[in-house]
Amino acid sequence: MTQQRNTAAWREMDAAHHLHPFTDTASLNEQGVRMITRADGIYLWDSEGNKIMDGMAGLWCVNIGYGRKDLSDVAKRQMDELAYYNTFFKTSHPAVVELSHLLAEVAPQGFDHVFYTNSGSESVDTMIRMVRRYWDVKGKPEKKTLIGRWNGYHGSTIGGASLGGMSYMHEQGDLPIPGIVHVEQPWYYKHGKDMTPEEFGVAAARWIEEKILEVGADKIAAFVGEPIQGAGGVIVPPSTYWPEVQRICRQYDILLVADEVICGFGRTGEWFGQTHFGFQPDIFTTAKGLSSGYLPIGAVFVNDEVASTLAAGGDFNHGFTYSGHPVAAAVAHANVKALRDEGIVQRVKEDIGPYMQQRWRETFSQFEHVDDIRGVGLIQAFTLVKNKATRELFDNWGEIGLMCRDIFFANNLIMRACGDHIVSAPPLVISKAEVDQMIDTAARCMAEFERQLKAKGLA
Ligand code: PMP
Repeated sequence: MTQQRNTAAWREMDAAHHLHPFTDTASLNEQGVRMITRADGIYLWDSEGNKIMDGMAGLWCVNIGYGRKDLSDVAKRQMDELAYYNTFFKTSHPAVVELSHLLAEVAPQGFDHVFYTNSGSESVDTMIRMVRRYWDVKGKPEKKTLIGRWNGYHGSTIGGASLGGMSYMHEQGDLPIPGIVHVEQPWYYKHGKDMTPEEFGVAAARWIEEKILEVGADKIAAFVGEPIQGAGGVIVPPSTYWPEVQRICRQYDILLVADEVICGFGRTGEWFGQTHFGFQPDIFTTAKGLSSGYLPIGAVFVNDEVASTLAAGGDFNHGFTYSGHPVAAAVAHANVKALRDEGIVQRVKEDIGPYMQQRWRETFSQFEHVDDIRGVGLIQAFTLVKNKATRELFDNWGEIGLMCRDIFFANNLIMRACGDHIVSAPPLVISKAEVDQMIDTAARCMAEFERQLKAKGLA
């Protein structure tokens, strides 16, 4: 019985057999992993009995919070009834049909079709193939190149990692693949110089136009961006950015793709980040919040024009054994329905989101080495800086961030460091009292962080 093993035994077995994602295995095995054994609401418990506040909703995915028995009941019922069947070969099943119907209801107008995957990365790779197929069917097969952004994140598969702009990922496995180019991210604090945020938003969008002109509009298939860059450090673009990006994509006949894997399903207080920023993509990718992480499932939403073009092309030779998996689909359906019918998304917009944003700003603005405090709904961040007045960042980007992150962890609060950006995205069901508790703990951690900075002579 695995339950009877203790932490030390689990650590030993983990070190012996388990390769972790994005991990230096040797160094992890020296320290030993933290074993998470159960979760409820916004809290996790580890194998030593510590209660930990999850300020990251797992990996930005447990929107509905942990421990929803109604979701596990749905999974059990669906497993008993139809644990698996595929959606190839002229076949469907009730769970996937019900989910598709519901998704068309919550999606922005004009998005009536979805293609299922098992993860954000698969959604992105599916989208890449769809975009290229779209232009083939349109009789413009030379339109193949996709534009992504430096410091964007679109997953770990070969397509997703190529489209993302993480140089440390490109360094491994000969990426990016051909046909993918990148432009600079719309990070005002670093790149905005003497412009107003509104001026900068337009200027940053124009970098995309420059790239289109450099490569040739006749060769560009799509521009792809996260409405808010998540893993890149919660980079919230100025309000002028997305409308200008849309104008440029329309002008040059380029598909506009939003990667909503993090922003989707309520994170910003709207169902999708595109609505918050007021733009209309042609395609958008999702995963994470679709099932609140209870089971792996992703979906690529295509607008009616893209759907009818793909349909006109006959077979789309793409799909996964688990596309529209019945159990994942049933759980996603129950999750999305609950996010809607319990008013969870609406509450992020009208109540808990504004509360978090206000408390986040007022609390962290008091620290000497915190600046660029930002966020929307329940996704927020600040940046650790050496000097606020000159906007000077610390040397060795990421080193200070990890030091700070470790202080949060030591205090049983999970926040994440993306370089020297400290980010948070808790479950959407977080209460006001829990927001207060999270902010108070984080503030104590930041005071400790600034003490350590001084003690180590780093500031
Ligand atoms: N796109 C975005 C915007 C993401 O944030 C992520 C994951 N953090 C992915 C794609 C990849 O998703 P997955 O890890 O489920 O493959």
